[in-house]
Amino acid sequence: MSKNVFVFIEQRDNKIQKVGIELLGIARQLADKLGQDVVGMLVGENVKGETGVLFKHGADKVIVVEDPMLKEYVTEPYAKAIYEVIKANDPEIVLYGATSIGRDLAPRLAARIHTGLTADCTKLEIDEETNNLLMTRPAFGGNLMATIVCEDFRPQMATVRPGVMQSVNVDKTDGEVIEQQVAFTDADMNVTIREIAKHDNKKKDITEAKILVSGGRGLGGPEGFDELQKLADVLGAEVSSSRAAVDSGWIEKDRQVGQTGKTVRPELYFAFGISGAIQHLAGMEDSDLIIAVNKVEDAPIYDVADLGVVGDLNAVVPKLTELIKKEKA
Ligand code: FAD
Repeated sequence: MSKNVFVFIEQRDNKIQKVGIELLGIARQLADKLGQDVVGMLVGENVKGETGVLFKHGADKVIVVEDPMLKEYVTEPYAKAIYEVIKANDPEIVLYGATSIGRDLAPRLAARIHTGLTADCTKLEIDEETNNLLMTRPAFGGNLMATIVCEDFRPQMATVRPGVMQSVNVDKTDGEVIEQQVAFTDADMNVTIREIAKHDNKKKDITEAKILVSGGRGLGGPEGFDELQKLADVLGAEVSSSRAAVDSGWIEKDRQVGQTGKTVRPELYFAFGISGAIQHLAGMEDSDLIIAVNKVEDAPIYDVADLGVVGDLNAVVPKLTELIKKEKA
């Protein structure tokens, strides 16, 4: 009988990625409802030493698959490793991050195992009556939320957007580590990695930032972001944006906050020249403290802001940067 909530733990260069920790948080809630265990699946080369953090964040057990072929993420060997783990353990639920790796891996596994997959979920719950997993995600371009159920096949599988789920801390630093052997052959590696070219990006992912300085159409042009960058620099913050600014080509898409961008939950979120459309709020309203600056009094952004400044951002941003600079000197 299918049992337990499994989480694919993403690692890069043997560093556990935040999304895996977040998934353990929701897996813990789901498993507690079902009276089952949370099992992390950690795949790579020499990754066994990284399991402690997984127990601390909610895993009961960790299944480790190690092989030199798994050093870097390559679809085929990773799919084989996870397929073997799923086949041997018959999980009830399997969760993956909706990252470039998770989005590549999960559909391949769904086809191989012959089960369903709900992509890009923003909410997961257990149905009180049937114990099925209720997987909710935006549908029709984000205009409605659809809840999807996989009644007839197991495991029930979902990819989950990074930044949406909350991690948990449990008072535990170790647990059962199971090493699963998977027999790889040369035929499993169907690509040759000639070089790994790392993107030289000093910028942090906006989902990881403690402070975000976000700008919208009210900035008036790409140069508005230069001013925001100066403020971000004095605050040790990252710059993010609304979709309007991304669509105008003023800033890269990976900086977009919102329903079709990233979900963020920083300690402090500044919204400069952002009206507060529902699709933007969906990505930032859970921030700890929101400060909005808009030139009109009735902008919807004030509905979620803890502090609102009515004024011209062209005057507020440089002044704020100077004040903080002075304060820090
Ligand atoms: P606007 O709505 O044009 O607001 C600009 C604001 O700047 C105004 O409130 C104005 O008063 C203020 N302003 C202007 N000049 C100044 C000044 N000098 N000083 C101070 N304030 C000033 N949007 C997202 O952000 N993220 C998403 O992920 C997203 N996904 C979407 C998905 C779908 C399916 C759809 C239909 C839309 C989506 N949108 C998303 C778009 C969203 O509906 C809004 O169009 C967008 O958020 C508006 O961006 P904005 O607030 O920067 O621009």
